[in-house]
Amino acid sequence: MVLACSACASGGNRTFNQEADLVIIGAGPAGLAAAVEAADRGVKRILILEKMPYLGGTAFVSHGLLAGYETQITKALGIHDTEEALYALLNENAEYRLDPMMARITVRQSGPTIDWLIDRIKVPFLPATRRGYGSPTMMHTIEGGGQGLREPFIRVLEEGGIPVLFETRATKLIRSAEDRIIGVEAVSGGKTLAIGAKAVVVATGGYSANNRLAEVLDPFYRDVLQTGLSSSTGDGLIMASAAGAGVSSTRLLSLDFKDYEIITAHNGSSDAANCNPIMSAPGVIYLNPQGLRFMNEKNLGFMFQRLGEPFFREMHRTNSPFLWAVVDQETFTAVSAKRGLNLEYLNAAGPGELASLMGITPQVLEDTLAVYNLAAAAGRDEEFNRPAATLKPLSGRLYAVKFAPVLGITYGGLLKNEKAQVLRLDETPIEGLYCAGEVSASTAWMGWTLSSCFSWGRIAGASAAEFIRGGA
Ligand SMILES: Cc1cc2nc3c(=O)[nH]c(=O)nc-3n(C[C@H](O)[C@H](O)[C@H](O)COP(=O)(O)OP(=O)(O)OC[C@H]3O[C@@H](n4cnc5c(N)ncnc54)[C@H](O)[C@@H]3O)c2cc1C
Repeated sequence: MVLACSACASGGNRTFNQEADLVIIGAGPAGLAAAVEAADRGVKRILILEKMPYLGGTAFVSHGLLAGYETQITKALGIHDTEEALYALLNENAEYRLDPMMARITVRQSGPTIDWLIDRIKVPFLPATRRGYGSPTMMHTIEGGGQGLREPFIRVLEEGGIPVLFETRATKLIRSAEDRIIGVEAVSGGKTLAIGAKAVVVATGGYSANNRLAEVLDPFYRDVLQTGLSSSTGDGLIMASAAGAGVSSTRLLSLDFKDYEIITAHNGSSDAANCNPIMSAPGVIYLNPQGLRFMNEKNLGFMFQRLGEPFFREMHRTNSPFLWAVVDQETFTAVSAKRGLNLEYLNAAGPGELASLMGITPQVLEDTLAVYNLAAAAGRDEEFNRPAATLKPLSGRLYAVKFAPVLGITYGGLLKNEKAQVLRLDETPIEGLYCAGEVSASTAWMGWTLSSCFSWGRIAGASAAEFIRGGA
């Protein structure tokens, strides 16, 4: 059936297959929170479009850890972290690259959001919090991890009569002649639908499964590998920018460092390619494909994120898709390194033999290790300034693994304001368009992601409801 969209009278002669007051694109935490909040504020005809056949996006496969303070859980435990302490920690971890006002909102809303998940959605949380991402005891854990969100949200959607159109991929935001957003084009069962709406929330998640987009947004990340959930392809970013939205902070993404051979040639899963024990071992050294050190291996940053810069620089400089991590027997044993898929790490009795296995000129690796061992023995790394306390000569059997950076969570995205309105680069809002979650820019950093997706989803839902009622 083709309907005229009464909400879109000034949208010209456009006809729609379906009408809603509010269309939400994406049924992850940001989209779900937006839907429930808008419904609770009186919006009647809400429609969620979800391109996958299941609910929950990345959140339902996540670890279900949410940062927050002064929640009913922390209050019961007598824990009283403050906004200032957590805001300072978030900024320090993100190295001051977040928008201060938006990060402040993320922190401020974190406690109310966890209480809302408990009271409104009936999400079960463990009755304890723990440290993580810093010293405050702020990490709340959903019972059963991200899966613990599933049943409660299904129930709330059913109770509220909020439909989800599964396997329906939004492809385009429909604009009126006045440049307002008046609907969404989507593809379902091979057919293109035009859905009219008074407002649209884009909540399509990040682009960790779209390394080409990461490269388009910042060529520094060319050749980055991808392991994200297959739905995280940046659709919302592409759609909204085509409708005039500004995009910001796209260098801000979290990187994991994976076993290159498993993640590529062996087509391993992200878990099988985990080489963290070696990558983060106290005695590790990193080498380029020629067998040369290129950095202070201990300039790690929060959760190793500062490593991305020197790694990509060296990979681009040497035109190599991978780098090497090397440890000695003592370190290898101490970190109990086990390679995925029952593979063995390259290992050899000494540098010459190891170099042959690595495809490196033996003399080069022998010289690299000799220079490093002299520096370690002297407690002074003149080449790269690695701190003396972290220098330890490599001896005995040697182990090596090829590694490469892979995309984790993407923190750059659509520009938005404190009402979650999507902004153009001149900071004017695009009327009728809201966004929340990983599709949007720089309101969170590791540890805060999920709580910020729920918080900003609620803000987007509330703002859209106000707009639909005829407010700003
Ligand atoms: C393994 C793993 C564990 C994690 N654990 C944690 C954790 O413990 N704590 C934490 O804070 N963060 C964690 N994260 C990050 C967190 O889960 C995500 O950042 C968060 O779920 C993003 O929420 P979102 O709503 O923005 O997007 P998503 O959860 O990705 O949801 C977006 C939804 O939009 C849909 N969609 C996309 N494009 C379209 C389209 N064109 N049309 C229709 N639908 C579309 C997708 O299919 C998806 O369902 C983890 C991430 C991973 C990968």
